[in-house]
Amino acid sequence: MKGLIFDIKRYAIHDGPGIRTTVFFKGCPLSCWWCHNPESRSPKPEKAIKTVRIGNTEFRREETVGRYYSVQEVMAAILRDQVFMEQSGGGATFSGGEPMMQAPFLLALLKACKTEGIHTAVDTSGIAARAAFRRILPFTDLFLFDLKHLDDQKHREYTAASNRLILENLRLIAESGVDIWLRVPVIPGYNDDERNLERLRLFIKDNQRSNVRRLSLLPYHPVETKYGRCNQEFKLTDLEPPSRERMLALQKAFESTGIKTTIGG
Ligand code: SF4
Repeated sequence: MKGLIFDIKRYAIHDGPGIRTTVFFKGCPLSCWWCHNPESRSPKPEKAIKTVRIGNTEFRREETVGRYYSVQEVMAAILRDQVFMEQSGGGATFSGGEPMMQAPFLLALLKACKTEGIHTAVDTSGIAARAAFRRILPFTDLFLFDLKHLDDQKHREYTAASNRLILENLRLIAESGVDIWLRVPVIPGYNDDERNLERLRLFIKDNQRSNVRRLSLLPYHPVETKYGRCNQEFKLTDLEPPSRERMLALQKAFESTGIKTTIGG
């Protein structure tokens, strides 16, 4: 069995607790307007332009994004840093793209990690069959679960998919008792209006279990050049990131729900 991976990042510190190795799966069923990894969305290897700077000179070269790995190859990369993981309380995180899009390969990696005693996290947008989530639950220690918009119509507009299955899967995980860190991108003018934020606060309260450990607010940052490199259209031209004051105000508002709230990570 092989899986399509576009990056493996060592010493990651924002993808779960401790020092982690993050494995980025290629392919995503969503198409978020603010996606900061546009090269991750196609479920096939693709060409992209990479800029390399040497001194004051920039070179552009074409490279292929995405390569097929066996479970053994990915595990070899993860096991290289097992000592740091154990010392820091870290582990392996499977991100993307959408790792659930390659659920059998993900399941094989999760099982291999548990055999080695490695803490596992799955970073997901939540869009996959419920049965696939049920299969991975026993081998997953933590979900990093993205919530993009509570309004289904807007979710369809900005991500090209309904949020119904996503919310059902979030409830399924909340009821399972596996730890969850919610992640909400803050996209000014798109999902940070008071109505959506209030719905989000109510949703968190309604679904809050002791296993919903934290909420991470992820401020939008401009990524236009990345789209040019892989020849994709970027819709949010000229959109400015939220100010520090705005992020702090949102953090305070969400902490009032009783959930630990961080900015970033
Ligand atoms: S779910 Fe994540 S990877 Fe997929 S399009 Fe949205 S931001 Fe990009």
